[in-house]
Amino acid sequence: MNVDFTKIRTSNFADKNFICDCGQSHKVATQRIVIGENALMLLGELAQSVVPVGKALLISCEDIFQPYGNKVINRLVGAGYAVIKHIFKGNILPDIKYCNILNALPEDIKLVICFGGGTVCDIAKYFCYMRGIKLIMIPSAPAVFGHLSNYSALFQDGIKRYIPSMPPNILLCDLTALCGATQEMIAAAFGQLCSMLTVLFDLYYAKVIFGGHYCENIADMLFQVIDMGINEGEGLKAKQSSSIYILTEAILRCSLCIQMLQDGNVIGSPYYAADIFSFNNKNFLYGESVFIMHQKIFSLYKLFLENDLSGDILLPSDKAVHARRLSEIFGIDYYKTLPKIKYDLGVKTYMVTKYKIEEYRDDLLRFLNDIGQRVEKAAMVYKRIYQDAGYLFNQKLKNADTAQAIALACDFNDLPCLLSYMKNGGLFEKYI
Ligand SMILES: [Zn+2]
Repeated sequence: MNVDFTKIRTSNFADKNFICDCGQSHKVATQRIVIGENALMLLGELAQSVVPVGKALLISCEDIFQPYGNKVINRLVGAGYAVIKHIFKGNILPDIKYCNILNALPEDIKLVICFGGGTVCDIAKYFCYMRGIKLIMIPSAPAVFGHLSNYSALFQDGIKRYIPSMPPNILLCDLTALCGATQEMIAAAFGQLCSMLTVLFDLYYAKVIFGGHYCENIADMLFQVIDMGINEGEGLKAKQSSSIYILTEAILRCSLCIQMLQDGNVIGSPYYAADIFSFNNKNFLYGESVFIMHQKIFSLYKLFLENDLSGDILLPSDKAVHARRLSEIFGIDYYKTLPKIKYDLGVKTYMVTKYKIEEYRDDLLRFLNDIGQRVEKAAMVYKRIYQDAGYLFNQKLKNADTAQAIALACDFNDLPCLLSYMKNGGLFEKYI
């Protein structure tokens, strides 16, 4: 069946299993998605539909909790729940250690309500997944992976990882709660949303070269949400609430796409590169690193496909040198921390890939040029939002630093993408 996801309202995705003509079925486990102004009024009723009675835990952060958090508690108490709260103090990183802290809370918690942006939502999702507790998510700011995806982006041993967790049972998006979203948060969300453009290319490449799964219908929806964000550029700069609402919904749709892709292959793209790099370089804020890396990766792809830069000599990467550099930069044990790379790095695979890229070069280049216009438009909007938030857009990043970040970060992604191929061909090796 041909499903046109772009025509389906966000709330109508809830609790559906779409049999798609891509050959997969796309399941949305979230039972209810409610979006609207003052949607909080429905909290009691929604909570009772998943857990009728018992102990409820509210998770939030100190900086956003008041005054909305108290309204959440009042609604829950009014609906008959015994409410306890856990409010994280200060500006915390999404670290798995916070899930362990939550684990010390009473065992008879039946329901978790999470009010927050990406960080606290990622922590709550993983905690609920470990404990098997029902979860209601109330976004306080737009966040790409946080609210509806079945992954949590969490630091573990100093490295950010995308760990399978669970999507919320209920998403309650009260648009009035988003009024407090700062320009920084909007910039961060917009930057992440736009980086999905290079992710789409990675998925397309994996299909063309390796026969990987690629769903045209989900890709159409991702293009739709990126266009929604770009079209609201003027309104976002002016902090218009209607534009913030549209961006929030666009990003919720993006996280729905991630939930609907069965094997989480979005997560396998060199998107990782940006995250690892941003962790290493403290000067980057609010989506800037993600955005810069997405642009760099895009131009590297373009440069590579327009000019055949692959030589015949394969320079296998030197694991010992990588290990040393990674331990210098991150202070981690390379062999202990790195996940097993799933694809074959051998010479034979490299050569087969090389011939396939030559065969499909025009096709790949056409796709890349199609997304190119969006990359440019998104860049203009992002830079304006970021600068309006009071930050200088850092364009002084040296190519050598980018190459080094990419070469090291490629070790962390397990999608056989063009960047990994370029790296295996030795294109970045001299920068390590
Ligand atoms: Zn599909």
